[in-house]
Amino acid sequence: MNKINSVRARVWNWKGPTVPPAGNFCANASDALRIHGDAMESFRFHQWLTCEVEDSHGTVGIGNAALAPRLVKNAIDEWYAPLVIGEDPFDYAYIWEKMYRRTLAWGRKGIGMTAISAIDIALWDLMGKLTGKPVFKLLGGRTKEKIPVYYSKLYAGPVEEMQEEAAQALAEGYTAFKSRFGYGPKDGPEGMRDNLKRVEAVREVIGYDRDLMLECYMGWNIDYAKRMLPKLARFEPRWLEEPVIADDIAGYVALNAMNIVPISGGEHEYSVLGCADLLRRGAVSVLQYDTNRVGGITAAQKINAIAEAFQVPVVPHAGQVHNYHLTMANMNCPVSEYFPVFDVEVGNELFYYIFEGDPVAEDGFLQLDDDLPGLGISISERHLEHFEIEE
Ligand SMILES: [Mg+2]
Repeated sequence: MNKINSVRARVWNWKGPTVPPAGNFCANASDALRIHGDAMESFRFHQWLTCEVEDSHGTVGIGNAALAPRLVKNAIDEWYAPLVIGEDPFDYAYIWEKMYRRTLAWGRKGIGMTAISAIDIALWDLMGKLTGKPVFKLLGGRTKEKIPVYYSKLYAGPVEEMQEEAAQALAEGYTAFKSRFGYGPKDGPEGMRDNLKRVEAVREVIGYDRDLMLECYMGWNIDYAKRMLPKLARFEPRWLEEPVIADDIAGYVALNAMNIVPISGGEHEYSVLGCADLLRRGAVSVLQYDTNRVGGITAAQKINAIAEAFQVPVVPHAGQVHNYHLTMANMNCPVSEYFPVFDVEVGNELFYYIFEGDPVAEDGFLQLDDDLPGLGISISERHLEHFEIEE
């Protein structure tokens, strides 16, 4: 029987050039603490984790994680790798439960579930390679000719610069756009106006025949969000993303029940039962679990089924290839988030510097290859000189 021989977790520290983000480029949960200095610090991450699972024939499946990679590596090395080695990679559901149940006391949310996610993604890549099939073909196959994407950047900045960026993206063929708010409760009525001014400015460029998503990244609170929703309605946002911190589920429920703007979220929720709770309580109108955190593809696929039963569309968080496979294989995933490739700024750009083969959007769509086994990515040699790698 084919068995898992090894699990190799590596941390990739970016040492190359970075773009310093401007102040107020994206609201975030630390804004509430801000007195002086750079609240944006908590939003940036310039590290990534790769997780390579090798079987007895030497075939390697590749997974990854973006959250606190050094801690996740420790968790994999010390706890999860020994649970997985010796198992048949096709027993993915059993392996998932084994990892979950054996570390339940500390691992069910946060670092533990992120480590489970990284291994699980690697297992799916491995199963694809062993069967000669792309992962989406193992998950249900092609439900779309190609995947519509939304341009996910437009960080808050000078209004003219945001309009130029939107015009550029429009010219490149994107038909949906996500923009970030820069201000929150601490910035008072003036900040509120600054937020609205930027939404209006982006709408001015893209018009009303294209989707506009709005992102708070947990930088608001319930009071602020309640006051903003009626003011935002006239801009017809497709959704308002993470208006309050992830633990304030009652806040999501209340805002979503206002029925003014669809509320989205879930990228900081963990596990099947965590997401099922969001759906059961009506906390979100669009669910955006993060496959890297929620428990990998095995958990994501179960959540997709639950969300479909609630008729809540799923748009997995982050423009990365594992999410594209899930989106391709599920009717209920209408669109993918897409991070256009740019210089390293926030950190989500690192995916493109570490991996080769991540599909590039053209005219607002991206495509997956029917004949490329697994996830279709490999670890790149191109930018090695810019990384410090921890084995
Ligand atoms: Mg988000």
